[in-house]
Amino acid sequence: MSSAPHLSSAPLEGRSPFELRRDQSRNVPESLVKKALETGEIGFLHSFTTGSTVDGPGVRVVGWTAGCQWRCQYCHNPDTWNMMNGMPVTLEHAVEALGKYRHGLKIMSGGFTLSGGEPLMQDRFATRLFKAAKAMGIHTCMETNGFLGARLSDEELETIDLVLLGLKAWDSEKHQRLTGKDIGPTLDFARRLAARNRPIWVRFVLVPGLTDETEDIAQIAKFAAGMGNVERVEVLPFHQMGRYKWKELGLDYKLEKTEPPSQALAERACDVFRAEGLKAF
Ligand code: SF4
Repeated sequence: MSSAPHLSSAPLEGRSPFELRRDQSRNVPESLVKKALETGEIGFLHSFTTGSTVDGPGVRVVGWTAGCQWRCQYCHNPDTWNMMNGMPVTLEHAVEALGKYRHGLKIMSGGFTLSGGEPLMQDRFATRLFKAAKAMGIHTCMETNGFLGARLSDEELETIDLVLLGLKAWDSEKHQRLTGKDIGPTLDFARRLAARNRPIWVRFVLVPGLTDETEDIAQIAKFAAGMGNVERVEVLPFHQMGRYKWKELGLDYKLEKTEPPSQALAERACDVFRAEGLKAF
């Protein structure tokens, strides 16, 4: 299948997820996209990056998927919203690319993280890739907004060693304004992971003037602490590395003038999580 002209057999490794990717799948016929989504035989990837120390435990290979139905105001990879901006890659090719790193990842206590975009937009590809990674003895993480978590069976959840779950705001109207979507399905997914005792690291993006309200953070903290399966909370400071992508893609970027949070503000947010007994960094 990898010899078909519209499928990429080129090396998957990119320098950084901050590289702008566009129209890499424009020649892929619609019928093939449909089949890809149904079977997971083909995935649409922005890139693979290696050597990450911030996307799960140890040193990670990260697969950045294309496709997301959310529209977070602070998204730093809006080129991954459209699945057709990703390169079409066979499952076989992705597994082979990952296999090259299996020994190194083990030595560095790392593993494979599937991020995006939103990996569950391509749930069949994601689950097959996780299964293959586990078969190679590789630790697996999925970074997700959780909205499509119901697409995974209980058995499939077991192939994901750790979920990096983005909790972006608590107040439902605020969440809708910030992401364009309802928070309900994300919380349902979180509760399901808790019920099955699957580990979670919560990821919270701190944006001055947008997500820094103490009461809202406190509600997220209370929810996270109550689940019992949250191993840590990562407070991620907003940054402007994706600003140029919004401009290049002709999108309306509302955070043009927003500064990254100060160290003191980030510490205060961590303290709100710590007050509920959570480990926060
Ligand atoms: S969920 Fe992630 S990829 Fe999707 S819009 Fe939000 S920040 Fe961007």
